[in-house]
Amino acid sequence: MLIGIVIVATLLMVVILVMMRKHYLKKITHLREEIKVFKNSNEYQEEAVVIFSENFEVLSANRSAKKLLQLEPYRQGEVADKAIKFQEGKSEIFTLSEIIDKYTQITKGTIRLDNISMLIEDHKKSVNVYIDHSKWNSQDSYICVFQDISSELLESELKKQFGEVDFLTNLPSQFQASRDINQLVITAQRENKKISFFLFGIDNFENMKSSFGFGYTNSLLKNFAEFLKNLDNDKRSSYRLESDNFLYIVEDIISEDEVIEIGYELNKNLVSFFSSRSKDRELSFSIGSVIFPDHGRNSSKLIDHAYIALMESKKDPKSSIALFKKEQFGVRDNEKKLVEEIKSGLKNREFEVYYQPIIDLRSTSIVGAEALVRWNHPELGLLMPNRFIRLAEESGLIVGIGEFVIEEVISQHKKWLEEGLESVEISVNLSARELLEYQLAEKLEQLFKESSVNPSFFNLDMSEEDAMKDMVKTDYEFSILQDIGVNLSLDHFGTSGSSIDQLQKLPIHTLKVDRSILKNIDRNYYHQETFKAIVVLAHALSMKVVAEGIETKEQYEVLQNLGCDRAQGHIFSKPAPALEFQALLKGK
Ligand code: C2E
Ligand code: MG
Repeated sequence: MLIGIVIVATLLMVVILVMMRKHYLKKITHLREEIKVFKNSNEYQEEAVVIFSENFEVLSANRSAKKLLQLEPYRQGEVADKAIKFQEGKSEIFTLSEIIDKYTQITKGTIRLDNISMLIEDHKKSVNVYIDHSKWNSQDSYICVFQDISSELLESELKKQFGEVDFLTNLPSQFQASRDINQLVITAQRENKKISFFLFGIDNFENMKSSFGFGYTNSLLKNFAEFLKNLDNDKRSSYRLESDNFLYIVEDIISEDEVIEIGYELNKNLVSFFSSRSKDRELSFSIGSVIFPDHGRNSSKLIDHAYIALMESKKDPKSSIALFKKEQFGVRDNEKKLVEEIKSGLKNREFEVYYQPIIDLRSTSIVGAEALVRWNHPELGLLMPNRFIRLAEESGLIVGIGEFVIEEVISQHKKWLEEGLESVEISVNLSARELLEYQLAEKLEQLFKESSVNPSFFNLDMSEEDAMKDMVKTDYEFSILQDIGVNLSLDHFGTSGSSIDQLQKLPIHTLKVDRSILKNIDRNYYHQETFKAIVVLAHALSMKVVAEGIETKEQYEVLQNLGCDRAQGHIFSKPAPALEFQALLKGK
């Protein structure tokens, strides 16, 4: 009897064990299937799998997990709960254990959260999360799968924005390009092959838009697409990414030299293609090029780096093509960070205006100042404009900086007048983008009205190069500014070769002669002759001449003898904060 009971109990145990095993296997299969759901065909976006003990010690983590969760400092066995945080809504932050507590009450089992923000140190990532409370190596544990979906969200954003085919040129769009590139790199990786990417830009395209209109530039873009389409074959394909930026992909290349050769050939054919169509206008092009896998392993890195190379190529007038350089890795990321910092710097009022005196060479007294922006960066200290102006111009944030400087100068001028100081002329630097893209005159007019300040003290400096970029537009905007009573100067005069005809047309009040001409003026006969000619020309056109960057007594004396009206430079004073400049004004 007892033996019978023991046998039945054992059998029962075996059955239970088999059922448990089945259940366990089913669970594992279920888990595998779930994990499979996360499997992405792109091997560069593999899901991250981490197994935590119930106390959130890391029991195991795959390669992607270590990378995504920055688990590298955590050796197995260390607790990682506090390092992984999730954000729901705008501000609510939960650790992994809190998220598990919260959702276990709701789901009573496997937790699956789609498109949740995960915070890792100061980064935010969009992820899908799968958490299973299960046994691992016979220990109660949480098997967590994180799928980084940032690139998928970007893809769906691109699709929304651009569609699959570009409406104007019928070329595949930016969205299609990023999809195709991610497929191409998988094959190239498998077959150990290289791919080259050529990103084209039409030089001066933005100016052409405003000078010749959209009709002209649209037909230009259509012709460009036609040129590229004719070159397509099973190893070559073209796309329009945005505006004048076309991407051309050539598979199976061998070396950098071959890429450069293809680039030059493309550029040559492009120039002759266009010159045979529009004989009246000479077009030039810039090409930025990158190679897979040397310069990036997925579409977003490759395209980002192609844009950096394109910028380099535009900067170099001697060459139409630039290959991405390894030293530039991370440049875009740093720049993106700096752009964000400029934005918050503007919000937090970290920018400040310094004033550099301008001296009248006859009376030798201060008659004005140039307002120069500085950035009191919370970590890097006082930053000069060369650290941020270019980026501010490229990102459009220069408009915000310009607004701040203008408002600051007008209110400072008002304060000085109220304190009984004599009015001096203040010059504010203006970037092309501010003049061409922003309702500057209206804004200024309103500010002068609100502050009841007479605009005649206010001067705008625009570089000769920027002013000449689009003469029609500059002429139009300058005339409006002149009408509201503002003075205008051409900065860095002598560096961009504007014609006398252009100078006569523009309502300019002052020429600011560039430092390059004045550097050795006391010793350089040719520079003296050039400067003399500039003075004669300026005076004939009723303009004043300001000499910039004067550092020595010798330079100063030569300028006085050559009939220069005003000067600015370290010999008088470096740019100084408002209070220091005010002290100079009081003592003048
Ligand atoms: P800029 O308009 O040519 O300004 C004159 C620059 O020459 C200033 O540099 C000034 O500090 C420097 N300088 C003046 N005297 C001397 C001298 O005797 N020797 C030497 N070596 N340098 C001298 P800073 O302040 O670094 O500004 C650089 C440029 O940044 C400016 O060149 C201007 O183009 C731009 N910038 C400055 N503030 C603003 C702004 O508010 N808006 C815009 N759009 N650009 C600005
Ligand atoms: Mg200036």
